[in-house]
Amino acid sequence: MGSLSGKNAVVTGSTSGIGLAYARAFAAAGANVVINGFGSPEDIEKERAKIESDFKVKAIYSPADMTKPAEIAGMIALGEKTFGSVDILVNNAGIQFVSPIEEFPIEKWDQIIAINLSSAFHAIRAAVPGMKKKGWGRIINTASAHSLVASPFKSAYVSAKHGIAGLTKTVALEVATHKITCNCISPGYVWTPLVEKQIPDTMKARGLTREQVINDVLLDAQPTKEFVTSEQVAALALFLCSDDAAQITGTNLSIDGGWTAE
Ligand code: NAD
Repeated sequence: MGSLSGKNAVVTGSTSGIGLAYARAFAAAGANVVINGFGSPEDIEKERAKIESDFKVKAIYSPADMTKPAEIAGMIALGEKTFGSVDILVNNAGIQFVSPIEEFPIEKWDQIIAINLSSAFHAIRAAVPGMKKKGWGRIINTASAHSLVASPFKSAYVSAKHGIAGLTKTVALEVATHKITCNCISPGYVWTPLVEKQIPDTMKARGLTREQVINDVLLDAQPTKEFVTSEQVAALALFLCSDDAAQITGTNLSIDGGWTAE
């Protein structure tokens, strides 16, 4: 019996990177999982089936687009219908776009606010009634070091992540007496496709080479000079789901190699 046996988790943006690590960590602890996100159908099916065979739990896929409120509510409903409840919700889907503000495409601003901030509101709104009914719940939002500090050329991302930190505190207070906790995790740089994809634009925006972006921009922010791993972030989420973490709520937990200590 794993520590999460009998629990069911929804992880948004879990076809890749940190989200996939959360889903696999919960499944390893015995939870059934709803995975979500984009990618090729073959790759997604491979990851879904691998979760089931590696951990002997049930894993289903929701194709919900995190820019679409009705699809987000449908994803929570799918989890409740398939498994009987959604006990753990991780709002993790996110995208990045790097540009000076005067050139920042308006549709990119809207898309980042929708995926990185509003989708968490819609998912929490849909999941809280079921958690209240069961008298137990864990809501974890992937924020970022950019929920605490800013970097130039990331206006939408930094705004959305500061918003996630505020949403986390508000929800924590609203559900505090229902044995539901709500926290956010704020990683520094984790080597995932999201980080890799922003390197060309950062090279352009700052006039740097790829190596300079990795060493002088990304790792420069982290005193340890190492990337955080997706598995380390997932291990923290797993702890937040434990009974030992029942009194941790409304917090913003940094896992950033010391970045925000400076
Ligand atoms: P990633 O690109 O590997 O994964 C992002 C996931 O979100 C993918 O599964 C993708 O398909 C999904 N997604 C994107 N748009 C979506 C949409 N409209 N609907 C549904 N799913 C969608 O990135 P990652 O680095 O694993 O990022 C995960 C989260 O961690 C994000 O919220 C990101 O802001 C945050 N984060 C990442 C880092 C880092 O350094 N990688 C640092 C701090 C915070």
